[in-house]
Amino acid sequence: MRKILLATEKPFSAAAVAEIRQIVEQAGDVLETLEKYADPAQLAAAAATADALIVRSDKVTREIIAAAPKLKIIVRAGAGYDNLDLEACTAAGITAMNTPGQNSNAVAELVIGLMTYMARNQFAPGTGSELRGKKLGIHAYGNVGRLVAAIGKGAGMTVEAYDPFVGNDTMKQEGVTPLKTVEELYSTADYISIHIPATAETKHSINHPLLARLPKNATIINTARKEVIDEQGLIQLMNERPDIKYAADVAPDADEEFKTFGTRYYATKKKIGAETSEANINAGLAAARQIVEYFTTGNQRYKVN
Ligand code: NAD
Repeated sequence: MRKILLATEKPFSAAAVAEIRQIVEQAGDVLETLEKYADPAQLAAAAATADALIVRSDKVTREIIAAAPKLKIIVRAGAGYDNLDLEACTAAGITAMNTPGQNSNAVAELVIGLMTYMARNQFAPGTGSELRGKKLGIHAYGNVGRLVAAIGKGAGMTVEAYDPFVGNDTMKQEGVTPLKTVEELYSTADYISIHIPATAETKHSINHPLLARLPKNATIINTARKEVIDEQGLIQLMNERPDIKYAADVAPDADEEFKTFGTRYYATKKKIGAETSEANINAGLAAARQIVEYFTTGNQRYKVN
């Protein structure tokens, strides 16, 4: 009997946990939960006897991995896996996976909500603007980017995207104009929606020279990761350009400085992009199924290391 640990500092809904438990127990395994823990030492202690681990944004560091000698697989219930130390996983022979696509719709709907919120001056009295007829630039056409594009088109926006790893035909078939360079995207879009993963290569890549290309009255929506933005570069631009707005799912490190921009800036207090009951259930269940399949059939489809 294997022990599968569900370690969530920010817990899943009770309904999602019940369904995860059902999948695990049906496979003859045991589910243990560690929720709302305050100290990584608690995670290390709980992981010490676990064969598999499911986490959300929880940090799985080298130290946690060293404390868990039985671990064979870690699944990040979500898309971004920058919270897992992949090198340490590989060195310990652990398979690391994510659950791509399971929370994308939740994030895409939040993007559209943030665009409207910013277009209407954070619902303050006064005259705002509409999304219809505006140009939406999708920075990375993955699972979330594609859904944002589809909803944006439904709202009457024209949509363009930059993603060097997705074929032009895919975008064209979905009514999206593929762009050859990221500079072109930032030079033309009224709304930029950021969906690049946080990697060594992308961190701070959205910098002042790129942002300075934005057309008048542009709004940047970042539901990816705060690390991909060069915060000081963006602050400099917003000081130089009173027409530029920024909204983010989770506050940047320089939140206090950004707050001086008033209704031109908004950040969620905690990351809420994937916080819908539907996304909780989709991602949690997918993680449990991937673990059961890994142990029963060796399926490693969503391996990221
Ligand atoms: P995904 O893996 O489906 O798509 C990522 C896309 O980025 C891929 O199409 C890839 O080709 C593209 N890409 C990679 N490097 C690039 C680069 N340098 N330039 C342009 N494109 C590049 O991921 P997703 O589900 O669409 O999620 C995107 C990101 O959003 C995740 O990495 C995660 O950090 C973040 N996210 C946040 C929340 C939230 O709660 N706010 C939830 C889900 C995902």
